[in-house]
Amino acid sequence: MKTMAFLADKVTEILRAYPICDSCLGRQFSLLGTQTTNAQRGYSLKLYLTMQMHLEAQDLDESKKTQAIETLKVISEKGNHLPAMEVLRKILPDAKLHEEPAEGQKFKCYLCDNIFSQVREIAEIAYEKGKDFEFDNFLVGTALLPEISDREDELRAKFQLTQGEAFKSHINREVGKILQKQFNVPVEFKEPQLLFRFDLGFSKLEISAQANPLFIAGKYKKFERGIPQTHWPCTQCGGKGCPRCNNLGKMYPTSVEELVSSEIRDAAQGTETKFHGAGREDIDARCLGNGRPYVLEVKNPRRRHFDLRAVEDLINKNAGGKVSVSELQFSTKEYMQELKTGAEYRSKKYFALCQMEPGISKVTFEQKLKEVREKITIIVQRTPMRVVHRRADLSREKRVLKITGEWRDDQTAAFTIEAQGGTYIKELISGDGGRTRPNISEIFGVQITCTELDIINVDEISSCGKVREVPENQKK
Ligand SMILES: [Zn+2]
Ligand SMILES: [Zn+2]
Repeated sequence: MKTMAFLADKVTEILRAYPICDSCLGRQFSLLGTQTTNAQRGYSLKLYLTMQMHLEAQDLDESKKTQAIETLKVISEKGNHLPAMEVLRKILPDAKLHEEPAEGQKFKCYLCDNIFSQVREIAEIAYEKGKDFEFDNFLVGTALLPEISDREDELRAKFQLTQGEAFKSHINREVGKILQKQFNVPVEFKEPQLLFRFDLGFSKLEISAQANPLFIAGKYKKFERGIPQTHWPCTQCGGKGCPRCNNLGKMYPTSVEELVSSEIRDAAQGTETKFHGAGREDIDARCLGNGRPYVLEVKNPRRRHFDLRAVEDLINKNAGGKVSVSELQFSTKEYMQELKTGAEYRSKKYFALCQMEPGISKVTFEQKLKEVREKITIIVQRTPMRVVHRRADLSREKRVLKITGEWRDDQTAAFTIEAQGGTYIKELISGDGGRTRPNISEIFGVQITCTELDIINVDEISSCGKVREVPENQKK
């Protein structure tokens, strides 16, 4: 069993070998005791040892006394421990203990090179780096040069110390405590808004502050056809600008992404943005109804609190009627991920204006439509011809939830189709040369082609397996 003398012996052994500050000594025993600090642990161990040696120095046995005094000197010099110094002064009034150590002989902790006596200064530099950012929580992270971690590892191996914590987590916590008070915001381990990074060596200290992205969720509507969802660099020049793209560097003059991003980026004082949509519509399809949910990720934001209603108004004003955004709100990375992975399971409602090969009467149309509703519930879609050059050629099963139709004349019809996210609607109508089956054209027995497509609703949370029904009178 390890007795009280065990700790005292360990500490004596360590200090005989190396000068160690209170913090670094205490860190070797971090797992022992709670509601305290490593510095207090280290100080207490040295104090306990001092008291023990003070007692033994009063022993009548000369050899025991000599040994106690020798140990007190170790605690005093290698432990930089004031109580031991004072005890020595008391029992050895004639000894040369009052002299200030010469320059170069000043106490220097073997493990930290006195870094732990400078945490205030380190925190001060970090504060300066962070003070221009707006953040609600933060984290301190340290990268140690091997010169520091190697010494710690060797010491622990040599003295078989198994109750310690890592140097990194110790310094992170000590500086973090000060910053927490200065900024008056908590430490956050999972998704910190601001990350202070320390690159630390015995003669190296680099501190940087890095803001993690800001996520803003909203919904967009697209009122004009011919606008892609995201910025599409020119395939000819890759974005540099060439005759094909009219020196714009992109395939289309603008995109939903470009129309809804810069105002938010500027309000957040970020450097760049990334657009994450809950699925996407074709370039020539409009997106109406309540709009499509999306999240805008702003990189390196300096602001996290600003008036989203004002930004929303500005975006809508600048977009000139091409697109509009609504319901902007501060969001999270988790929501963004959920939005992207969940897109496929969200149902979507489309309005498709179609051209038919002539000859379908209103009566025939109604009969065929009934047949369509019976036969088209689950379809198998092979990647459409029009996109197979850039997407994998696969067959996918998709659920079609509801189809209604309206005969306009013997060449024109309109369908409202509710289907699982990712369903290719134009191909569900045309059949795409048999790549989508069953399809509306084959049931009608004539070729039907979608000429205009609008998304009129993107379901927000319900999965396709369990479609949420919102009664008409509860809709916003
Ligand atoms: Zn130290
Ligand atoms: Zn180009």
